[in-house]
Amino acid sequence: MERFNNKKNLLSFLIAIPFFFGGFIPNETMMPAFRMKKIVLDAGHGGKDPGNLGARSKEKDINLAVTLLVGKYIKENMPDVEVIYTRDDDSFPALKDRPKLANNNKADLFVSIHSNSAPNKSAFGTETFVMGTKNFEANFDIVKKENSVILLEENHEAEYEGFDPASPESYMMFNLMSKANFSNSLSLADHIETQFRDRVGRKSRGVKQAPLWVLWTTSMPSVLVEVGFLSNSTEEQFLMTKEGKEYMASAIYRAIKDYKEQIEIN
Ligand SMILES: [Zn+2]
Repeated sequence: MERFNNKKNLLSFLIAIPFFFGGFIPNETMMPAFRMKKIVLDAGHGGKDPGNLGARSKEKDINLAVTLLVGKYIKENMPDVEVIYTRDDDSFPALKDRPKLANNNKADLFVSIHSNSAPNKSAFGTETFVMGTKNFEANFDIVKKENSVILLEENHEAEYEGFDPASPESYMMFNLMSKANFSNSLSLADHIETQFRDRVGRKSRGVKQAPLWVLWTTSMPSVLVEVGFLSNSTEEQFLMTKEGKEYMASAIYRAIKDYKEQIEIN
């Protein structure tokens, strides 16, 4: 009987502990929880820069259509998140103005949407880039192509401090920067490739690192998504259809939603 009472007392004591110490443990109301409130969506290329050319499509048009759909899904399903587009028509924002728009607006996320191309017409699939230099030589063709839009801009030598997209030496400067947002960028990139592979049934070529100007100068987690190869006729055909664009956009939207839930818990 005595043992029973002791047990009971111990139990009451254990139950009471949270009430005694609860007041000393910082809770949610004391620590402002992070909320993802603003996203910049960047449709790659535009205007006089068509980007990659498929047999029947231009990269800038595919990018814009997919980007506008991602924005539409976010607006419809995440009313607390503001969407800002770097372009919502066939205009030509300078490469450096795209991350600048995200920085000036203090955005929580930057997502740049592109379509790929390769001399090997059989290459297909999706890939998502985060800023980094690991193994980037393997992707140097894409790096060169995506950065070389700078050359179309007037006064680019002064604006980009002599950076030459075609010269590997130019990329030495990227090594000097460390990105605090690297792990969050990686996490979003993983969510995107997982959605492409598991929910849309695309071939995922994986998450990769590359020194892309548009990702380098942002001060928030940032990724660049390649939704498929316009040089591959089957994939180009898929990306030209309404359903194809909707599938890819909803995959990116769901990845952003998963990422948002993940970082708002942590
Ligand atoms: Zn592109």
